[in-house]
Amino acid sequence: MLFRYLSRPLAAVALLCLAGAARGDSPIAHSVLRLAPSTSPDHTTATRLASESTPVDADIYSTMSSTDAHRPEMALDADSSTYFQTVGGMDDGDDFLVLFGRPIPVTSIKVTSGDGQGHDVLSKGILETTTDGVTYHKVADFKAGGVAEADVDGDPVMGVRIRLKKDANIDRLVIDDIAVGSTVPISGQLAPGRAFVDVSKAPDVKAWAERAAKEVAEFWPNTNALLYSDGFIPPNMVNMVFADGDGVAGTGGGVMAVNAKWCREHPDDTGLAVHEMSHAVQAYPTYDASWLVEGIADYIRWVKFEPQHFHPRINVAKSTYHDAYQTTATFLGWCALHYDSCLPTKLNQALRAGTYNDRLFKQCCGKDVGDLWAEFVKSYQTDPKDILAAVSPTSRLSSN
Ligand SMILES: [Zn+2]
Repeated sequence: MLFRYLSRPLAAVALLCLAGAARGDSPIAHSVLRLAPSTSPDHTTATRLASESTPVDADIYSTMSSTDAHRPEMALDADSSTYFQTVGGMDDGDDFLVLFGRPIPVTSIKVTSGDGQGHDVLSKGILETTTDGVTYHKVADFKAGGVAEADVDGDPVMGVRIRLKKDANIDRLVIDDIAVGSTVPISGQLAPGRAFVDVSKAPDVKAWAERAAKEVAEFWPNTNALLYSDGFIPPNMVNMVFADGDGVAGTGGGVMAVNAKWCREHPDDTGLAVHEMSHAVQAYPTYDASWLVEGIADYIRWVKFEPQHFHPRINVAKSTYHDAYQTTATFLGWCALHYDSCLPTKLNQALRAGTYNDRLFKQCCGKDVGDLWAEFVKSYQTDPKDILAAVSPTSRLSSN
């Protein structure tokens, strides 16, 4: 398939607006399965939970990138000298989530944001809990000083989520501490990458969405490795929101918005979610150079994730290395195969650091990018079908 994505990893596309509406203060978001107060028959459940003291693991998720010095786990380590700090800003769809392995009795939650000097404070934020890991309920607002406190009355809680109020974007977030009052010892660790699916606006694409989410989870660790840079902790969470819209998909601000109409018309195109997940992991400060940003995302999807389905068709008379998407992805795969297997990783590091320049091709491959392209074209003209055959001989043998 030679369709074009409408992806804009940092600039929100129209679809993202739809997505924001889908996961905002909608009736669905508030139809909470909150357990009844302790005077109800559910009291027995609460009592049983309260008597538990078996430690629970907590998976920590962030849609926002950070650094090794201020990792997400540092928000939950009860050490006042450490804290979680984002590299970039916090936008409408961004979340910080702590998900317990099972519901535990919780009496209080206190979240302290900011660096103690009044910087990077979350003052227009919401603290939410969930009893089932699916539906969330607001339990407190963040106050001007950046603190949110909730009394939870020993209710079972399975997760704690921190979000922004609408249009309250901040340039950077620091979470100093998330203190959960419970008889159960909590041990938090950074979770593997995961897409959280929301098909409330398009329930008929649920099977497509779940298949895509599974593929995303499977390939997230490989993507982290391919897009590695020293000391950088990529996001490990994206909210995958399905709704009818235009285009194909777009990712930014913690949300992967997917056009449900596209899913219905392209039942086998779930791999597009891997392209979009790559944008979440890239977390570049800008969309420059956009051709390379999209080329790397398609390299992740087509050359590394599903090479058995990749049949690049390039019009060499018209194309250039900076055509983005599949053309750039094929070129990167060819350069990696013949010159520097780490080229995509190194290009990624430069984009993330804001230092990318075409000269990097020469530094890595020993040849100017224009000369590499000319050589690539000759190679493609000789054998277009097997231009990347050596990348994945096994999977290509099994392709249709
Ligand atoms: Zn894209």
